[in-house]
Amino acid sequence: MMKDNIQEIELRIQAACDKVGRMRSEVTLIAVSKTKPNEMLIKAFNLGMRHFGENKVQEMSQKWEDLNDKFGDKVYWHLIGHLQRNKVKYIIDRTALIHSVDSLRLAEQIEEEAAKKNILCDILIEVNIAGEDTKFGVSPGEVLPLLIEISKLTHIRIRGLMMIAPYVENPEMNRKYFTKLRELYVDIKTKNADNNGDGNILNSEYFDILSMGMTGDFEVAIEEGATMVRIGTGIFGERDYTIPI
Ligand SMILES: *Cc1c(COP(=O)(O)O)cnc(C)c1O
Repeated sequence: MMKDNIQEIELRIQAACDKVGRMRSEVTLIAVSKTKPNEMLIKAFNLGMRHFGENKVQEMSQKWEDLNDKFGDKVYWHLIGHLQRNKVKYIIDRTALIHSVDSLRLAEQIEEEAAKKNILCDILIEVNIAGEDTKFGVSPGEVLPLLIEISKLTHIRIRGLMMIAPYVENPEMNRKYFTKLRELYVDIKTKNADNNGDGNILNSEYFDILSMGMTGDFEVAIEEGATMVRIGTGIFGERDYTIPI
């Protein structure tokens, strides 16, 4: 069952890449395992999954503790949900990438904890591209000023941008948002490249991640340039939020 799901997702990722002349290796598949028990993560691991996405700090920490002996450094844990400042310390050295940084205050907290552990923390800036009230993330206009401030923090590396698209029946409805985020991303990269020397905002060599696309719309996201897709339901099946983890 999960094997078939993964095979199907893989075929669809490949087809989306083929459609726009991209290579499969340009797209990282993140298996979003939130609410799913350890056994399902182990199964996914045995089927080749190496990137797991979790949206809650406590749940991710617990799974990390349970599974790290088995997964070790073969697995990359992605924190994709909203992060509260007082919880940064629990995941700072367990996550490969924090997708959801949306304020300087949060970045400063990450900086402080990363400095304590003497590590470099990779992050993405979450952008509320559709301007939805219900979503976290900064507005497109706030991205560059925030990026400039965060780039002064020495234990943080800004790797790119992330968005959560609106829930829609037809994924084509989200194409314009994916396009917009890609344009913003390219714009930042280009501005930065033009800025030779002291004005450099960030090391654009490492500004290389566009995290967008979920089960309902990942093909469109890939066509529009996604380098990471976050897929839960398509791999693990529907989530049941009534079962306690
Ligand atoms: C749950 C979640 C996903 C995966 O959603 P599916 O529709 O199940 O693929 C992706 N990104 C974020 C931020 C999520 O919280």
